[in-house]
Amino acid sequence: MTAVADLMDYAEVVERFDPVLGLEVHVELSTDTKMFCGCPNLFGGEPNTHVCPTCLGLPGALPVVNGKAVESAIRIGLALNCEIAEWCRFARKNYFYPDMPKNFQTSQYDEPIAFNGHLDVVLDDGEVVRVDIERAHMEEDTGKSLHVGGATGRIHGAEHSLLDYNRAGVPLIEIVTKPIVGMGARAPEVARAYVTALRDLLRAMDVSDVRMDQGSLRCDANVSLMPKGGSEFGTRTETKNVNSLRSVERAVRYEMTRQAAILAEGGTITQETRHFQEADGSTSPGRTKETAEDYRYFPEPDLVPIAPSRAWVEQLRATIPELPWERRKRIQAEWNLTDEELRDLVNTGAADLVAATVDAGAEPGEARSWWVQYLTQQANAREVELADLPIAPAQVARVIALVNSGELTNKLAREVVQGVLAGEGEPDEVVEKRGLKVVSDDSALLAAVDEALAAQPDVADKIRGGKVQAAGAIVGAVMKATKGQADAKRVRELILERVGA
Ligand SMILES: [Zn+2]
Repeated sequence: MTAVADLMDYAEVVERFDPVLGLEVHVELSTDTKMFCGCPNLFGGEPNTHVCPTCLGLPGALPVVNGKAVESAIRIGLALNCEIAEWCRFARKNYFYPDMPKNFQTSQYDEPIAFNGHLDVVLDDGEVVRVDIERAHMEEDTGKSLHVGGATGRIHGAEHSLLDYNRAGVPLIEIVTKPIVGMGARAPEVARAYVTALRDLLRAMDVSDVRMDQGSLRCDANVSLMPKGGSEFGTRTETKNVNSLRSVERAVRYEMTRQAAILAEGGTITQETRHFQEADGSTSPGRTKETAEDYRYFPEPDLVPIAPSRAWVEQLRATIPELPWERRKRIQAEWNLTDEELRDLVNTGAADLVAATVDAGAEPGEARSWWVQYLTQQANAREVELADLPIAPAQVARVIALVNSGELTNKLAREVVQGVLAGEGEPDEVVEKRGLKVVSDDSALLAAVDEALAAQPDVADKIRGGKVQAAGAIVGAVMKATKGQADAKRVRELILERVGA
């Protein structure tokens, strides 16, 4: 076990070594059905209820490729500026693992559907880094093992294991970068920014729900070091299934400091997979890494090759929506934002949400203010990403519309948002259920105004004497009496009318 003391100080690491990264991202597609059978593609469910002879690997069951998944793979390839293969095949990747009932994974090997692309990634300070994409290929997900009885949920120390094949055969796209070199101290940040950009892209294309917490987007981070100024890559490790954006950055950084400490003492790096430990940000050894030869790949005999016509590829190219970075450029111009304002919007994860709220009819300034302020606070309090808050841009737009029409005050609007976040339904339903309508009936308001004026005659005199700003105290009293459900602007007008000021 590597203790914390065996890490090299980060500043020294980047002074002595150049990091080389390779990122492999697995994306579960949100198709209706699995990759090679008609089973529903749904997260969770009672174990082993979304299964059939094909995804259970029973004798005689034959696979059929999911056309929608091929379509998504091509669209993803195009959005990543890849070439699309004119002809490609699936292969069998042979290995035994209990959560893979066929004893092989149907994947693509030397004939990926998309290859040779790139993704431009914006770092926190606005610098743009181009990450080259080696390939994007289709494959299927495995089932899940549940190890029971151990302290950590890992197989070590477990009393027995349970298997759930609901996820077996879910369509996956694996996106592999070319080696990312020359990033120096910024390598961990580049890794996070790349996965973030990829997530935003896939979300905008509506091909996956990209929930890292549910495993529908997972990152394997390959890290190696070479001596400063060197050109020959060192031995790499592969930290598997890192499941949050922040963890991607931490895992890369940790591996750099761990490997540097070993290399500095003349040691060698073991080529292996490693596990990331969320609790302390360290990695621990997994299995010694197999080579491609170990898997005995061969072309899948039960599936026909895929030969997407160029006409179809062009049709699919036309379906790619405005990409997140294009949209950002457009909104910056349309909303007149400085580079810094745009960056804040992007870094809080709000840019696309604000844009979608504007698309749903809200005014940009109001949409921005809701997402960047109140909703960001709510996300922080719940320790979730802004986009994972259970409220949709259209719902935020509706709340804004209710405020603008005078049906809600800002305070009531926040209560409505709380209701939506608590799962009480659409904004209008929350207004109804919680009784949050503004009291706009003048006669009801006048009664409250008269009562407040009578209770504070000295204030009433001041207003009458021309000290209009004193009306604030009466407005406050009326708001209190109506439990905040009055329109403060209208209350002020009524007060001034009443005292004849
Ligand atoms: Zn099935």
